[in-house]
Amino acid sequence: MTNIIEKCVYSFFNNQAEGTATMKNILGGKGTGLAEMSELGLPVPPGFTISADLCEQYYKNGRILPKFLLTQLYEALSEVEESLGRSFNDEHNPLLVSVRSGAWISMPGMMDTVLNLGLNDRTVAGLAKLHNNERFAYDSYRRFIQMYSNVVLKLRSVHFEEVLDLKKQDRGVRLDEELDVLALKEIIEEYKKIVKAKTGVDFLQEVHVQLEEAIKAVFDSWMSPRAITYRKINNISDDYGTAVTIQAMVFGNLDSTSATGVLFSRNPSTGERKLFGEYLPNAQGEDIVSGIRTPNPISKLAETMPAIYAQIEQFAIKLERHYKDMQDIEFTVEQGKLWMLQTRKGKRTVESALKIAVDLVSEGIITKEEALQRVDPCSLDQLLHPVLDPKVKKDVIAKGLPASPGAASGLVAFSAEEAERLTKLGNKSILVRTETSPEDIHGMHAAQGILTSRGGMTSHAAVVARGMGKPCIAGASSLSIDYEKNLMRVDGHVVKEHDQITIDGQSGEIILGTVSTIKPVLSRPFVQMMTWADEIRRLKIRTNAETVEDIKTALNFGAEGIGLCRTEHMFFDPKRIVSVRKMIIANSLEQRREALNEILPMQRKDFVAIFQLMKEKPVNIRLLDMPLHEFVPKTEKEIQQVALSGRLSIESVVDRCKQVHETNPMLGHRGCRLALTYPEIYEMQARAVFEAMYEVEATGDVKLNVEIMVPLVVNEVEIRFLKNLIDGVANKVAEEKGGKLDYKVGTMIELPRAALCSDKIAPFVDFMSYGTNDLSQTTFGISRDDASMFMSHYVDCGIFKNDPFVELDEEGVGELIKISCAKTRKVKHTVKFGICGEHGGEPNSIQFFNELGFDYVSCSPYRIQVAKLAAAQCAVRSK
Ligand code: PEP
Ligand code: MG
Repeated sequence: MTNIIEKCVYSFFNNQAEGTATMKNILGGKGTGLAEMSELGLPVPPGFTISADLCEQYYKNGRILPKFLLTQLYEALSEVEESLGRSFNDEHNPLLVSVRSGAWISMPGMMDTVLNLGLNDRTVAGLAKLHNNERFAYDSYRRFIQMYSNVVLKLRSVHFEEVLDLKKQDRGVRLDEELDVLALKEIIEEYKKIVKAKTGVDFLQEVHVQLEEAIKAVFDSWMSPRAITYRKINNISDDYGTAVTIQAMVFGNLDSTSATGVLFSRNPSTGERKLFGEYLPNAQGEDIVSGIRTPNPISKLAETMPAIYAQIEQFAIKLERHYKDMQDIEFTVEQGKLWMLQTRKGKRTVESALKIAVDLVSEGIITKEEALQRVDPCSLDQLLHPVLDPKVKKDVIAKGLPASPGAASGLVAFSAEEAERLTKLGNKSILVRTETSPEDIHGMHAAQGILTSRGGMTSHAAVVARGMGKPCIAGASSLSIDYEKNLMRVDGHVVKEHDQITIDGQSGEIILGTVSTIKPVLSRPFVQMMTWADEIRRLKIRTNAETVEDIKTALNFGAEGIGLCRTEHMFFDPKRIVSVRKMIIANSLEQRREALNEILPMQRKDFVAIFQLMKEKPVNIRLLDMPLHEFVPKTEKEIQQVALSGRLSIESVVDRCKQVHETNPMLGHRGCRLALTYPEIYEMQARAVFEAMYEVEATGDVKLNVEIMVPLVVNEVEIRFLKNLIDGVANKVAEEKGGKLDYKVGTMIELPRAALCSDKIAPFVDFMSYGTNDLSQTTFGISRDDASMFMSHYVDCGIFKNDPFVELDEEGVGELIKISCAKTRKVKHTVKFGICGEHGGEPNSIQFFNELGFDYVSCSPYRIQVAKLAAAQCAVRSK
């Protein structure tokens, strides 16, 4: 009796199986599929699966198969022999098997398989007699030697292909199947010579050893370089290992009543409900993959083998109903009998995923809730932006971080001014900078896309481009940009100003020349899925936006409010930049007030426009959080303009610029600190907000929902002072205009100290919005603009699981947020929580915020659909 703990072999035959769908970790995808199909009564060649647990043991054991496995293996093999009435190594009635890999997650083509195992010089003759087909038997033996030699003996296939090609030339034929028995026998002899020459021993005749060696080779293929790379690219753990499925061979290459094929139960590109795939008559599965013969579309099988086609259609429906999903199926027809060899969840495009999920609901197979879980929220991004035409060849010269999706081509412009000039002349441009600053905003606006050699996923370029829905590649560190000469060097190429390039913000690829793009149209299934998402989600989805254009886009995408209006982004308007600069370098209160008085009407106009668009929807206005270095005048012309406008000497402007210079601007005189030293700045902004509220509320019967947010607070003294300041301005404006203003005041929590001391801050706020960009930056002590230099290395080496500026670091940053929420709720349970860092559009981070009971997440306009679906998935999961 087998010890239950050590059970490692699971049989399936005669419509019975020891394994079930819940055992995917043990049986792998292939093993479970076969077990389930057996149980469902589908025709499956008998066989058994060796548990994936054994793979780990095998490696620990120094790559030796344990004894208890061999005992169970041969017990299971004799059951297969019995059920078919054939025997392994029987020279009259031989059983042949396939030995296949199968991990818990599908890794197509990454691991090894050996077919036709069980053949040797004796059994091949038996096989010929059994099927009365010598050609078939020797062709199978030829294929087996080649495959075994490659997979198990690690001999290169090319040696064997050469022999085959020469033989075809010699016989004057084009196709493998045109070779006669004699030719095949000669090939076999030559194959054996290759094996002897390369390994020093004869080709193995002992079929049981063949079997054990093949199992070892399949286990070994789990750790092959290509499998390791595939797992790395797809973020799959190296743990678990592969299962090995051993199954009686059925032959699609016996004669013209035999065939082999692969199909999807629905179209994997469009989702159409119709079998989609191909087959080859008189062939083995590998012939389809090898591409030597052109397969027929599966629809042709309906003409050539109508009964088989009808049966496959029926089985596909049965499997879809069982698995409640589209299936990827392999089958073989052996002399008019259909055998099912594999079923698994079919890979599909996002368009197809949406259509299939929506259709399965209308067919009554899955619920709306299940359908919502069927689509990867991030994949929706692909549907909203133009993508590169996949048919066009690309000359990729470098790669950077895929910071904002979409693809665009244009002439290289190394300055914002040039990008703008090119656009005015009717050209398309790509703005290429080492990094961007708010000063470049007009160029970013004019350009089709943005490329930077520095900066990470939350750098200025990335954040602004995402907001604008423009493609952006950031941190392409192999670019060396020379502003003096107006060119960039990259990997041996020199790209000059006005050269044509293309950027793909989805893949991060930088391409020479123009590549045409395809503009997506939103399909009905997409709209349906989003309607369901809206019905089900609890989290509100707001947007980070400040320009009229972005806000309109966000409203079109269904934004339920503005979660972050970065007012400093409004300060670079060319009409007000001189006043802003005067404000920064002002030496006295009067000088500063003079500058602020110039800015006030412009700010008020901004807010009026925003309020008119947003009406009663919440609008969160963040008061100035200005990295000073980005705004101080730098060029001679800028210094002169400020001096002239402020009636100042050039020297005094230059002196003042030196005084405000900071070594570490991100940790400097930023955020509310500027307003604590110069309160008149926030006073002006608060006044602009309140006056705009009066103006808009007076003209319509709209009741605005305005939130004023103070950035970069570290303690209660700061927020108390600034809350009083804002309330004071509100009272003054109310006095001047009459009536009462209704608004909320809150703060960003974006520094660890603020998170840890939230209970002290809470009494002074109505809401807290987590600025996870700065909170991640300051928790990790990693500059968000410089992280790209080493972040990919950190992620590749597993030092970080993910880029923490993309996916929230739950363990560290998340812990601070949890502490902050808990401490706040203890002292003031009415405080509302939101998040406005870039993580607000990232599904795993959204899950975290949903679990913490946040009220909303805020993200850039083009992430709204992603966030909505992710929020709906959270709601379904938490049910
Ligand atoms: C943040 O820090 O997360 C944030 C939203 O503010 P900003 O990106 O403007 O610093
Ligand atoms: Mg911030």
